[in-house]
Formats: sequence, C-alpha cells, structure tokens
Amino acid sequence: MLDRRSFLGAAGALALAGCGPREERSDVVVIGAGLAGLNAARLLEATGARVIVLEAGPRIGGRVDTRKDAPGSPELGAADIGALYARVLDTAASLQIELAAWPQLPSAYSYHYAGRTFTAAEWPTLDINPFANELRNVAPSALGQRFAPQPNPLPDAGAWLQEEFAALDIPYGKYLAEAGAPAAALPLIGVGQQLATLDAESALWRLRNSKIGALGMAAAMQARQPARRYVPGGLARLPEAMAGSLQEGVVRLNQRVVAIGQDARGVTVRTASGTTVRAAFAVCTIPLPVLRQVAFDPPLPALVGEAVATIPYGAATSVVLHVEQPYWEADGLPPNLWTDSPLQRGFLNPSPVGEGHHLWIFSTGAADLAARGWTDAETGEYVLQELKRIRPSTAGRVSVAAIRSFTRDPLVLGTYAHRAPGQIRRFGNILSQPVGRLLFAGEHTADLASGMEAAMESGERAALAIATQRS
Ligand SMILES: Cc1cc2nc3c(=O)[nH]c(=O)nc-3n(C[C@H](O)[C@H](O)[C@H](O)COP(=O)(O)OP(=O)(O)OC[C@H]3O[C@@H](n4cnc5c(N)ncnc54)[C@H](O)[C@@H]3O)c2cc1C
Repeated sequence: MLDRRSFLGAAGALALAGCGPREERSDVVVIGAGLAGLNAARLLEATGARVIVLEAGPRIGGRVDTRKDAPGSPELGAADIGALYARVLDTAASLQIELAAWPQLPSAYSYHYAGRTFTAAEWPTLDINPFANELRNVAPSALGQRFAPQPNPLPDAGAWLQEEFAALDIPYGKYLAEAGAPAAALPLIGVGQQLATLDAESALWRLRNSKIGALGMAAAMQARQPARRYVPGGLARLPEAMAGSLQEGVVRLNQRVVAIGQDARGVTVRTASGTTVRAAFAVCTIPLPVLRQVAFDPPLPALVGEAVATIPYGAATSVVLHVEQPYWEADGLPPNLWTDSPLQRGFLNPSPVGEGHHLWIFSTGAADLAARGWTDAETGEYVLQELKRIRPSTAGRVSVAAIRSFTRDPLVLGTYAHRAPGQIRRFGNILSQPVGRLLFAGEHTADLASGMEAAMESGERAALAIATQRS
C-alpha cells in the first residue's frame, strides 16, 4: 500500500503529465462497476443521492464476464446463482431478467491421477489407492467432505464471527489431520484448491463457506426451487441492466482510481487519467490485491491496512473450451475432470445462449497455469495438448473459446478473498466497517453471503450506511 508521500506523488505525477486537474462533484463516488458497486449506486440513487461510478476497465461487470464474441458465449467468471441469493434474484426480477434452472448435467468426475485414468467405481480396486479399509471406497474428490465434521459446528452463516468458534481459525490442513485425515489424503484433498497449500487457508473460513452452501441447498429443497440458476443470454445481462438503470452518464469507464483522500467534510478520489471527484462519501469495491496499489491520505488505520495487505486471494486461470462433439460419448467416461495435472478440474457447463456445452478448465492454486508466464494462445495450446494426453477422446472434439487468468488480470489479481489461519480472530470482518467517509464494499467484505450475493450484500450495507448518515 502507498503512504502519504506516494499519495502526493501520484497526484503530482498527474499534474506533471499535463492531464490538467479536472474536478467533479457528487454526493457519493463509487469505485468499481462490478455487482457490489452497481448495487450500491442503484440503492443510493433511489435515496436521491447524486452518484458517480468510476470503473478502471473498459466494461462493467468485473468478475461477471460473459464473452459474447466467443463460441457459445462462455462465462469466464461467475455463472451460478444460488437459491439463497435473495438480492441477485430480486434485482434480476426487477430488471426483467428471467433466470433458468441449471440443466441436469452429469456431476461425476473422470479421474486422472498418478498417470492413471479411472472412475470413482474403479478407485477402490486400484494399486495407486493409498488407503486401507473403508477409506479406499471414498472417491478422491470426496475426501475433503469425508473429514468435514457432520454436522457443521457453525449454526448459521454469521457464526464465523462469533468468539466461541475462534478456536477453529487454524490451518485447514492441520484441522483435517486432527479430524483423522491420513497424510496420504492431503495431496488428494489439495486438488482444485485455490490457495498454494491447504494450510494457507483458515478451517473456520472453509466451514463458513460450506455452511452457506449447505443452507442454500436446504432452502432450495424446502422451497422446491432450483439449487442453481443461470441467466439465459449470459450473466453479463445483469450488471449491464443494473448500469442501464442508473442515471445517464453516471458510470465512467476507463477511470482507474489511484488515490483516495478524505477530510472531515468529504472524500477526494483521483484517477490515473487526471480526474478528481470530490464527494461526501466514497464506496470502494476494488479487490484487495489491486487496492494495495492505491494511495490513501490519511493512511488507513493500522489494522485495516494490515487486512488489506494480507488477506489472500485464490489463484486461478479459466480456460473455457467449446465442445464441438460430446467427447464423453466417445470414451464412455463422465464429462467432468479431476486430475493431478496442472489442469486440476474441468466442468461441463451449458452454453448460456443454448449453443451446446462448454468444458470449463479451472487451473488453480499451486498448479495455476498463470505461473508459466505464457500468452493466452500458448496456454490454450498447452491445455488442448494436455487434455489429449489425459483424456484422448477430447482431441478434435473441443476447441478453445476464451481464456482469463484471474491471477494475472490487473483489475483483480486473484479470484476472490479467502482468509488465512488466524485472520478471522485478528480482523473479524473489519473491512465492513466505515473508515471515516470511506466505505469498503465488494465480495471480500460480506458478513453472511458468498459469491455474487456477497457482492450485492456488501453494496447494500455500504449504501444503507451512507443513506443513514445523509438523512
Ligand atoms: C472464476 C470465478 C468463478 C466464479 N463463479 C461464481 C459463481 O458461479 N457464482 C457466484 O455467486 N460467484 C462466483 N464468483 C464470484 C463472483 O464473481 C464475485 O463474488 C463477484 O462478481 C464480485 O463482485 P464485486 O463487485 O465484489 O467485485 P468485481 O466484480 O471484481 O468488481 C470490482 C470492479 O472494480 C474495478 N476496479 C479494480 N480496480 C479498480 C480501480 N483502481 N479503480 C476503479 N475500478 C477498479 C474492476 O475492474 C471491477 O469491475 C466467481 C468468481 C470467479 C473469479
């Protein structure tokens, strides 16, 4: 994070660049046009506030990223809408965006591990299966769940912040070992994880997210509603409609915020292009790895600054392949992939525009292909070759539709926020608290939800806090 001197330097560099200080005024400046920022902006406008939204990139949506120009319009980021996503569901309904139930697709994996290809049914019979007794029967992808306590010790989605569960804020690998997981199980449980090691993540954070997931499944069953929905035509329709519902000219693209200052009367936000926005309040939804590059004057309070600097984000590259022919019919194996290859996992997804299927390769954690430093074209070629090796039936039956490395994307620098062991005890959810006239929002600040609903929750919280102070 930048200190006061760097802040002044960033501002000065703009003046030197001859960009000319252009100052605009507004009641609230919202930084970032993902779901969190757009939800905050919509709610604030509804209270009569004048809002300016500054977005660094050339498009809105952030980690909602439908590639309409690629075959079948693949989703590169978020795709699934959960049953308990009340704000997402309500916003979509109010903007006349109809949702569809996620189609029933096979959920089983075809495994490729230690050089062998097999199904869950074959795993107990294999000589590479390192386990004895009943553990031999547990499929590699189910081992993490096998050592998760039943029932989840957290009674509800907010319990992760209660003192009585702080003892669970320990390394996830250690937690699994204490729950009886043998050492041989840990590398298998590590497949598909987003942090570099199991111990890099807090067990309490894992329990929080699995509780939220389980509550969603239970709610869907009880209400006889789909557990997962998607947006026909592409999820990007949602943030586009949200932005379209704002006053004209509110959303400014290609405006990267580089500095945020505040005094007793307001906030001043500066962009790399030389614009300054002065407002009574700011809502900042910049993902933390990017926020580390922003200058604050005055500096953030020490503990807030430490949270911004250290909360870890997952590493991942999405490579979405368009399925030209059903490769699973050619080899009779389940379409999804689970592997110790750098590809890690692959999921068969519907095309949101009804043009067949996509195979979403999600290369994560220590295996993340982003670490190779390849171009997208090189990454795509590698994925096709590697798939041909571990799943020969894909050869000639899939083609690269689109690629996005979240790890390397300069507007996120990761997937989404996790928590390292000890960080819940140390920080609580400090980023949901106002810092003077600055409110942080974004999925990384949510109390009760995860994914897109977390972003919506956080935007709502920030908007309500500002509306309360303005009234
Ligand atoms: C691969 C992947 C799959 C996912 N799948 C799902 C899923 O199926 N279901 C689900 O619910 N969730 C999913 N998520 C999570 C979901 O996408 C996010 O929780 C949500 O979209 C985050 O919204 P946000 O507004 O907090 O952040 P973002 O969408 O990241 O918005 C932040 C915005 O800030 C902008 N910005 C960054 N820096 C600056 C700056 N300096 N100045 C101005 N603007 C800046 C960015 O460009 C961006 O537009 C997935 C995420 C990933 C990465």
